[in-house]
Amino acid sequence: MNAIIFLTVICCGYYIFNKYFEEHVEEKYHYYFGGFVGVYCVLLYLYHFEYPFVYQLLKNVYDTSNEPLYNFNAQVSNAELFQAQHPNFNIKETLLQKQGGRCYACSNFIMSSDAHNTKLKYKTPLQNGGQNNMENLGLVCPHCFGFN
Ligand SMILES: [Zn+2]
Repeated sequence: MNAIIFLTVICCGYYIFNKYFEEHVEEKYHYYFGGFVGVYCVLLYLYHFEYPFVYQLLKNVYDTSNEPLYNFNAQVSNAELFQAQHPNFNIKETLLQKQGGRCYACSNFIMSSDAHNTKLKYKTPLQNGGQNNMENLGLVCPHCFGFN
């Protein structure tokens, strides 16, 4: 309600200003003022009748602006950060399941109790244009890791 009173006061002020200082008023000011009143009314309407929408909108803006830049693409670019955000994600177990419990290089079976001895290896080395993500990682036994 206060907002409507405020708007009324502003309009009265503008009217009075027009009446007594007509020589200072240019025509474009009327358009500016009309634009201001229009935007004000739209905001008022949104705030009072579409509050969830405005809330979501502002919350998204707030969250996004608070997000550190390195969060974007963190899954493919920053392994440590990814690990910090997904503490229960075990990359070796996941890869071992994906490879059917076998070494990526020699296809020998790897016991899941032996998984901590395995090494991660890029299928396509980074210097050859390989990506730093799950799809480009293979799990190899320690023996294969020594060779190339
Ligand atoms: Zn192997």
